[in-house]
Amino acid sequence: MKFFDPHVHMTSRTTDDYQAMADAGVVGLIEPAFWLGQPRTGVATFKDYYSSLIGWERFRSSQFGIKHYCTIGLNSREANNEPLAEQVMEILPLFIYKEGVVGIGEIGFDDQTAAEEKFYRAQLLLAKEASLPVQVHTPHRDKKRGTQRSMDIALDCGLAPGIVIIDHNNEETVQEVLERGFWAAFTIYPFTKMGNERMVEVVKKYGPERIMINSAADWGISDPLAVPKTAALMKQHGISDEAIQLVTYKNAIAAFGQSGQLNEADFAGAQQIDQSQKFEGNTVLRGGQQPRVDKDSLIIR
Ligand SMILES: [Zn+2]
Repeated sequence: MKFFDPHVHMTSRTTDDYQAMADAGVVGLIEPAFWLGQPRTGVATFKDYYSSLIGWERFRSSQFGIKHYCTIGLNSREANNEPLAEQVMEILPLFIYKEGVVGIGEIGFDDQTAAEEKFYRAQLLLAKEASLPVQVHTPHRDKKRGTQRSMDIALDCGLAPGIVIIDHNNEETVQEVLERGFWAAFTIYPFTKMGNERMVEVVKKYGPERIMINSAADWGISDPLAVPKTAALMKQHGISDEAIQLVTYKNAIAAFGQSGQLNEADFAGAQQIDQSQKFEGNTVLRGGQQPRVDKDSLIIR
């Protein structure tokens, strides 16, 4: 089976993680722009971060045969630094139209403050203008109300629910998200919140339409193999291969494919790996390491 992880912060992960994901069948992923664990102090670091998502990190992923896409946005926590947030809004249009950018994200609410709402609305309007999907981070505290509010505001800003992916759902939010026509994404968190046994029950109850699973793996305790592991658990529990492929591969590609930057055809055939390639003179190899190079050539040396 092929897998697609539509929410994973690879910048925080090691090459071992890339290798393990590739070995488990992950052929593509989306890296949303987010919070780095401590507040940024200037707009220049946002610029460099966005550049790395469409540059170096995409290259690093390619060195393990995984196609890397990203969403670009101002995260909810840093929306609360209004002077800086205003500056970030000004540079977003420089990045959202780049190749491989499949949406505005992850944006939404953290503490549900007025500043968060202001910049969430501004970015929804930007997404509408650019005809890009929106990846919505829902708050971990007061989740139900925050999720409802996120959907209300998206509709209020004129977005169709079909272009909005509501993330970090749980059993309390999923029904309303689906009934209102939005995509429902689920993050599988180890030890807390949404473990993957609960996810199996959600798919049994609601079916596979408009549901997608992600790892949201980042710099914290998280599991970059959450998508293939959950697929295996679903299979053990008798969920059909068709349903498993919808929630771990096809639905995310369909949702973010509305950007025009992502298509199932991107994953036809095996991706060639050539670790002798360089990105601005830099490689993933360290002194003396032999690059892995896949060759179609019949010449054997
Ligand atoms: Zn995230």
